[in-house]
Amino acid sequence: MSTPSSPQESTRLPVSLQVNLDLMPIKIYRKIIFCDMQFVDISYRLKLAPRLKSGLLKRMLSMNTTESPGDERTILEGVTGMVSAGEMLAILGPSGSGKSTLLNILAGRLQGRHSGVVLANGRRLTKAAIRRIGFVPQDDVLYPHLTVRETLVFSALLRLPRTMTRAEKVAAAERVIGELGLEKCADSIVGSAYVRGVSGGERRRVSIGKEVLVDPSVLILDEPTSGLDSTAAQRVVLALSASAREGGRTVVAAVHQPSSQAYQAFDSVLLLSAEGRCVYFGRGCEAMDYFAGAGFSPRFPVNPADFMLDLANGIAQGDNHGDPSNVKQSLVTSYNKLLAPKVKERINSALTKETVQTGMERGNEKEKQQKDYCSISWFNQFTVLLHRGLKERRHESFNSLRIFQVMAAAFLAGFMWWHSNIHNVQDRLGLLFFISIFWGVFASFNSVFTFPQDRAIFIKERTSGMYSLSSYFMARMAGDLPMELILPTGFVLIIYWMAGLRPEVGAFMLTLAVLLGYVLVAQGLGLALGAAIMDAKQASTMVTVTMLAFLLTAGFYVQNVPAGMAWLKYTSFTFYCFRLLIGIQYKGTEMASYLGLEQHRNGGGEVAEEVDGQVSAIVSVSALLLMFVGYRILAYVALKRIKT
Ligand code: ADP
Ligand code: MG
Repeated sequence: MSTPSSPQESTRLPVSLQVNLDLMPIKIYRKIIFCDMQFVDISYRLKLAPRLKSGLLKRMLSMNTTESPGDERTILEGVTGMVSAGEMLAILGPSGSGKSTLLNILAGRLQGRHSGVVLANGRRLTKAAIRRIGFVPQDDVLYPHLTVRETLVFSALLRLPRTMTRAEKVAAAERVIGELGLEKCADSIVGSAYVRGVSGGERRRVSIGKEVLVDPSVLILDEPTSGLDSTAAQRVVLALSASAREGGRTVVAAVHQPSSQAYQAFDSVLLLSAEGRCVYFGRGCEAMDYFAGAGFSPRFPVNPADFMLDLANGIAQGDNHGDPSNVKQSLVTSYNKLLAPKVKERINSALTKETVQTGMERGNEKEKQQKDYCSISWFNQFTVLLHRGLKERRHESFNSLRIFQVMAAAFLAGFMWWHSNIHNVQDRLGLLFFISIFWGVFASFNSVFTFPQDRAIFIKERTSGMYSLSSYFMARMAGDLPMELILPTGFVLIIYWMAGLRPEVGAFMLTLAVLLGYVLVAQGLGLALGAAIMDAKQASTMVTVTMLAFLLTAGFYVQNVPAGMAWLKYTSFTFYCFRLLIGIQYKGTEMASYLGLEQHRNGGGEVAEEVDGQVSAIVSVSALLLMFVGYRILAYVALKRIKT
């Protein structure tokens, strides 16, 4: 194992270093600043929330849940350990033992919610340090509709420093594709649980590639080998260990069922019991001796990892240990007696004055490097995100189903209202209201998924500081724009002339403008609710309720609204849109004369009154403009509140 001796030396590391394991070479092409990590007495308790909690709707519905909000569950208890630059630490333990939780804590993803300290180069994790930790979460957080190559290239464009040219960044992405053996599937879409894409193992490697790309000093991986066959899993483990030993990187990985050969590659091993307590921390090769000393030894040769997992579950070979709880108890006792003091001692000596000094220097150097390593400009972030968003959603924006939906509605309505008579006010109002309903619901419903859908990726990327919220937000808005404008335009083109609405180009253009504005406002409502609730199902329920209220109060269904409810209509954008559309078809005074012919048949008098008086076009337009801006600000603020 190579231990870096001084920071000066470490930064002069040979920059192009190729570790060819003939299976998976990993090349280090940038300087790495070494980083030692210690974590002491990490405990994590989870407040058991009432079953339905988190999320607005859930909170509203959570009145009659059984669990009291004060219940606590211990996930991790007093876990201590360390890992130095150039080493690979493996976290082993049965599922549910808290491996992922521990890795999240080490990666700074649960800051402020656990007890104990995590130190990197002798200092507590700062936000800047957290951003430089490469973290591969247990579940792949990737855009399913991008290809493998696109995923890595966009990542490179966003994350590599602005001192690199675009071509260099693309080359870096290509290199990672080669290093991870992804050439064959480079142009297939990544896919997800619902979308057929590359295989699970390939997807896993894409996740790893995204992090390796920026050459982080610390690489934390949660089950990097899940979904891989044993040979591929072994390759990944060996490559990771090589990138630690040869590249001076600090690697921490939770590994599920490592083969005995993979086990040899671990420098240190931390074994968690099923209850989240540490039962072994130390050199991988000394584990079996330690357990033998504690009274547990296998009766026949076994894979040490399998043996340890059994122990962590309380299953010991031999009958003299009794039931699992006894086994676990005696493991914990001997850890506290035999190992814990040694571990603390090791950490203390690692934290002696001069090593901390060295670490601090490294830290300073790291910060200096980070300054050089400034991220790309706002405008570049915006264009890359816009480009990526368009690529990711090319399948949905203009997908044929959506076009079919809109066209079918347009033609159906067009035939239903075929060359309708301008004097048939009731029918005409019906048509105008139908247009308002259709687009209000269609636009708000489609946009409500925008942010919830992106949630996991958004949080991950924001945590690693890939871009600013405003560039993401603006890119999202701009990316959705073409679809929001083209579909309603097509719709109006068809229905306007089929239904024989006022045959003037001016009136047509006004109708189109009102509808486009209205669609953007409705979209804003969906975005704001989506961002505030961040759960697609709940948010779409809220949209349903809100749109229902807006449609009911828009003035078509009920004319004589009780005074107490009448104000509601002023919050309804459908109300304003409907008024404007009527105003375009029946200009002020004309309305009365048309209505004069019809008045005895319908109660349209009040509509005419309102069109003329109370709500002038200017008020309606201003209200729509206000809502257009307001909903978007709400959405932005809601996103800002999301903890990263
Ligand atoms: P591992 O990765 O070892 O399988 P985890 O760290 O994912 O384990 O989880 C450890 C335990 O903590 C599990 O029993 C899990 O159910 C629980 N847990 C972790 N996070 C949460 C959470 N946010 N809500 C409820 N339970 C949680
Ligand atoms: Mg896990």
